[in-house]
Amino acid sequence: MSLDRSFELRLQNIPRVPLAFLPTPLKEASRLSAVIEGPKLWIKRDDLTGFGFGGNKVRGLEFLLADAQAQKADTLVTGAGRLTRLLGAEVRFTGDPDRASVDGLIESVAAELRRNGRHPYAIPRGGACVLGTLGYVLAAYELAEQCAAYSIVPDTVVLATGSCGTHAGLLAGVQALHLPWRVEGFTVSRPVEEVQVRVYNLAQAALERLGLDQAISTHDVIVHDGFIGPGYGIPTVEGAAAIRLAARSEGIFLDPTYTGKALAGLIAHTRARRYQRDETIIFLHTGGEPALFVGEGEWLNE
Ligand SMILES: *Cc1c(COP(=O)(O)O)cnc(C)c1O
Repeated sequence: MSLDRSFELRLQNIPRVPLAFLPTPLKEASRLSAVIEGPKLWIKRDDLTGFGFGGNKVRGLEFLLADAQAQKADTLVTGAGRLTRLLGAEVRFTGDPDRASVDGLIESVAAELRRNGRHPYAIPRGGACVLGTLGYVLAAYELAEQCAAYSIVPDTVVLATGSCGTHAGLLAGVQALHLPWRVEGFTVSRPVEEVQVRVYNLAQAALERLGLDQAISTHDVIVHDGFIGPGYGIPTVEGAAAIRLAARSEGIFLDPTYTGKALAGLIAHTRARRYQRDETIIFLHTGGEPALFVGEGEWLNE
């Protein structure tokens, strides 16, 4: 396979703050494949990007932070949880249980800071903006090189889709490199129609940002529903079963919010014979394992 070097150069020339340990490993998961009687499975270990316990957000953040530095920002404003207090961030609550309310508060806090003479840099939830999406365009390149090195040609890359930047970036990268891979996301938070539009728009915008004149077709935007369960972040029985299978067959730990639900989807689609045994699927492990240590984990029991 010959990869387009001019495209790689264009991508490499966009500044990044190096945070991630790259490339992350691509490992065959033949025992998991055997227990689910499924396609040949490989796992792309983006849980091992290293910075801040790893995960997919690190890749986009490399581009976003370089842009914030270039704009001489003095404050980052975003919506998220976890290490904020430890790092001394000022935390504000919207007071609204609807997670979408965070988007409005990011904008209003940034505006307030600007009025006070500061230079805020606003990052939408999940880093799901054009620049953040480039993280996974570059990851598609990295993955393509690994596939070439291992002589594998995946039929499909499967992932959990939340705020959509990861899915969109991969899709844009696959298009830019003319790879014959399907990218299939399992939505874990938003309604499937909203995800389709967001993935399409972000992927298209990423190609334009890179000066490529390819177009994303709506047929290439593949988003599956049916595995969110009662809601975002609420563990499901199918997700717990998938997490147990991955742990006990491969010693690989998934999370209840994202990757467990995506693997549950992959398993269900395998049982429904949507994925065939002779196909090759790469499962993108996007991280999230710290959630395993929250609470007593009773949801994980059989
Ligand atoms: C944010 C996140 C996702 C989803 O990625 P998006 O780019 O928001 O769609 C998947 N897995 C984990 C562990 C995440 O933290």
